[in-house]
Amino acid sequence: QKQIKLKKRPLGTPVMEDFEFTEASVPSPSEGEVLVKTLYISVDPYLRGRMQNTKSYVAPFELNEVITSGVVGQIAESKSEHFSKGDYVIGMLGWQEYTLAKEKEVRKIDPNLAPVTAYLSILGLTGLTAYFGLLDIGQPKEGETVVVSGAAGAVGSAVGQIAKIKGAHVVGIAGSEEKIRYLTDELGFDEAINYKTEDVPAALKKACPNGIDVYFDNVGGEISDAVFPLLNRQARIPVCGAISAYNKVEADVGPRVQTALIKTSSLMKGFTVGDYSSRFKEGAADLGRWLQEGKLKYEETITEGFDQTIDAFLDLFKGANLGKQLVKVAGE
Ligand code: NDP
Repeated sequence: QKQIKLKKRPLGTPVMEDFEFTEASVPSPSEGEVLVKTLYISVDPYLRGRMQNTKSYVAPFELNEVITSGVVGQIAESKSEHFSKGDYVIGMLGWQEYTLAKEKEVRKIDPNLAPVTAYLSILGLTGLTAYFGLLDIGQPKEGETVVVSGAAGAVGSAVGQIAKIKGAHVVGIAGSEEKIRYLTDELGFDEAINYKTEDVPAALKKACPNGIDVYFDNVGGEISDAVFPLLNRQARIPVCGAISAYNKVEADVGPRVQTALIKTSSLMKGFTVGDYSSRFKEGAADLGRWLQEGKLKYEETITEGFDQTIDAFLDLFKGANLGKQLVKVAGE
């Protein structure tokens, strides 16, 4: 079977040479273990952070080890009484065609409730990130203005729609005309700004005539710099991601935000979705209900073929994806 290992810690934007494709035999499960056939791999921006040897909320990847991320698969062989051949499961598994997992490392998912890919996107960690970051930290109220960056991505597209469900005026910022049309025409965002072609400070001013009450930040950098001067009093800023900085070799510097926060008594709070693990059931229930009611839509960009996994990961930094970026490794 094929596997992908981290060969070098990337300097700046990762390149193919930082990774290595290797071959290994397919292992057999022992008592209490299962062999999972990989169907879909989730590639995520946060994996870039795990490629560096720095302290964070998750341990860095080891060099010459198989990379891991969210995977949906099917039980190919079971030595566990809890799983049968053919069961669909999810877990943090390897970038490889088969993974040997302890029974506790995977969780069954129901393919009748939703397409299995949804457990890696809207019903999985990305949907939950949007849900808890926006509702727990952002706390949008009816009539308030919510701005979200990275708006056409997996997290951002859910954030904007949940903010609409809560009755907010929603403005998204994204990087292509196709994405802008998707946000306004398909997802019901009130306004969308193309940061690659528009003057962002001017466009934000126009799109947010009443100022900004919630800024859900997925990207950091200059886009965020343009938001701070427009904050209203008691604004809330869930800091979810800073993808514009993930590949920077030098520290990312820009205007200081303290004065804007003090002047407006605003709250800026970083978080990771894991902070809310005890409440995942509650979040998944709401997301599932909104999906069924047609209030929430989601998009997935599915790249075909295990050999394309690195390209799919690198595409995140080029903005090639609409919604959640996944890799299809094998058919069901
Ligand atoms: P996305 O689906 O949003 O994919 C990444 C998107 O980021 C791209 O499509 C691209 O869209 C945009 N982007 C890439 N480079 C830049 C740049 N230099 N400046 C501005 N935008 C850029 O990924 P996710 O939804 O999975 O993640 C979104 C953010 O949320 C990331 O920062 C991620 O790290 C973070 N995150 C945080 C979690 C947490 O627990 N705190 C959990 C999950 C994600 P475009 O075309 O618009 O540029």
